[in-house]
Amino acid sequence: MENASDRKCVEVVLGNELLHLLPERAVWWDHQKTLLIADTHFGKEATFRFSSIPVPDQTHESLSRLTGLIKRLNPQKLIVLGDLLHARRGRSETVFEEIASWRESHAALEIVLVRGNHDDAAGDPPSEWRIHCVDEPSVLGPLGLRHIPLSEPTEAVCLAGHLHPVVRLSGRGRDSLRLPCFLLRSHQLILPAFSPFVDGKSLTLQDTDHVFAVAENQVIPVCCPV
Ligand code: MN
Repeated sequence: MENASDRKCVEVVLGNELLHLLPERAVWWDHQKTLLIADTHFGKEATFRFSSIPVPDQTHESLSRLTGLIKRLNPQKLIVLGDLLHARRGRSETVFEEIASWRESHAALEIVLVRGNHDDAAGDPPSEWRIHCVDEPSVLGPLGLRHIPLSEPTEAVCLAGHLHPVVRLSGRGRDSLRLPCFLLRSHQLILPAFSPFVDGKSLTLQDTDHVFAVAENQVIPVCCPV
């Protein structure tokens, strides 16, 4: 069992708001009592099984991680920054029942989806999940909420997903490790994918980027990534 005291998060200030980058690959915005995640890609494994590739389903792991966060932080609102669902043919009955039952056990939580490119193709979630779906850009307080980050240069202060950022850390010799990460670029904070079953995009870093890698139960500022 993870010891809570071992968990390390990182604080960043964006648009004068204090945000906590959490090792569960989520952002906690205490001032708004809001939890933010991106790229859950629910149903992706089902699309593989649909093609007779028997990958294990990650829905339960993602939902348990979310439940852990909700129990610990007691958010009023959960915002998903796009790609809640992976694909139209990933709308599997088993996965949908699991999510519906999870939703019922967190009935008081307000949930907002800022639609991403996969949601556009997969369609909105069933109405009984009571997820308020909006197109990007959405706004909460001083922060823009998007799925696809704005191309640079931009002065817009926002949170986004879509890139599934990953950073490669190199040790001695040929040791190297790819870790999901948060990317603070210009005034945009890009979240790692919440799903454990997505490809990450290794970053081509810019001089002014700040990168925070997720290593098990810690978020680690990375100074000199390759
Ligand atoms: Mn995505």
